[in-house]
Amino acid sequence: MVTNNIEEYKGVYVFAQQVDNEISGIALELLGKGKELAAKLETEVTAVLIGYNVKGLADKLAEYGADKVILVDDPELETYRTEPYAHALASVIEKYKPEIVLVGATAIGRDLGPTVSARVQTGLTADCTVLEIGDFPLVAIPGQEQKHNQLLMTRPAFGGNTIATIACPDNRPQMATVRPGVMQKIAPIAGAKAVIEEYNPGFTPNNKYVTIKEVVKAVSDTVDIMDAKILVSGGRGVGSAENFKILEDLAEVLGGTVSCSRAVVDNGWKPKDLQVGQTGKTVRPQIYFAIGISGAIQHVAGMEESDLIVAINKDETAPIFDVADYGIVGDLNKIVPALTEQLKAA
Ligand code: FAD
Repeated sequence: MVTNNIEEYKGVYVFAQQVDNEISGIALELLGKGKELAAKLETEVTAVLIGYNVKGLADKLAEYGADKVILVDDPELETYRTEPYAHALASVIEKYKPEIVLVGATAIGRDLGPTVSARVQTGLTADCTVLEIGDFPLVAIPGQEQKHNQLLMTRPAFGGNTIATIACPDNRPQMATVRPGVMQKIAPIAGAKAVIEEYNPGFTPNNKYVTIKEVVKAVSDTVDIMDAKILVSGGRGVGSAENFKILEDLAEVLGGTVSCSRAVVDNGWKPKDLQVGQTGKTVRPQIYFAIGISGAIQHVAGMEESDLIVAINKDETAPIFDVADYGIVGDLNKIVPALTEQLKAA
């Protein structure tokens, strides 16, 4: 890896992912985290908005904490493709020299982030769940320089069996992709106006690798579990795909959405996009029902930030009760239908 002059690099930059002219939730979450990091470093947070005819989105980024917006707007950027987007973001990094660059660990970000980090010759920590400013190494080691104000990037490693904190002390920018649903947005500042700086590094039509012929949108009549306010989540204890009907009935009465553990997905009872946890989605609903879920660490990692957790399990020693606000010990086949009936009658 090539080292560069660290002192030249300033500011926290967030890739403001947009799809179909709509800012993705992860961009707002990253602005919230970026603002916190920028305050510690006494610097600013800048959103990098890339697309075509997307200028109108800049004020929303200001409302959610961006001090400045760098806009790269070009017909080549209408739909995401690796090559023009990587060219856009890498050019912004080369021109503005940010200290930190944050990208969402979405399908787009997982493609874009590593491509750009390789292009600007710096490191990237993927799929982070915690970002902090601190010293690296974390504890002073005799004979080794401890560097201050480093971005400490924490992520699960070795299949979730350990948590690793990683830094990039000798190069800039420090780059991370961050799991959606983990960081907190700030409360929006109504009426905030963005300071926009337009920058176009120049694009030549580049269809060498990818030509988009047609965009087919996924059609779904269910709420994304990351957006749901109430989740009724089932585990292996539910027993079968058919028996999820009792959870669906409860969800319907509550106006909630059904989600599940990985065991359920592995059994083929529910699709992967309903899976909560380390290798599924991170959720933060107002109420999370954990029904027939044991509470394995990899599951809890994806739901422990829920406002209120209600666990139903026949085993009173199940670890899920350690994170639950309310626990009901008993057979879910009796408790869940009874709860649904009570709520219907209420
Ligand atoms: P179990 O652990 O089998 O628990 C079933 C529970 O149901 C038990 O507590 C039992 O007491 C209860 N039960 C049974 N019958 C009834 C009944 N009639 N009434 C009431 N309670 C009943 N898991 C995830 O969920 N999400 C992830 O993203 C994820 N990622 C992983 C990543 C890695 C690298 C690894 C190694 C594992 C991962 N796992 C994940 C798997 C995780 O370790 C557990 O195996 C899984 O969460 C267990 O699912 P479960 O709680 O539904 O099943």
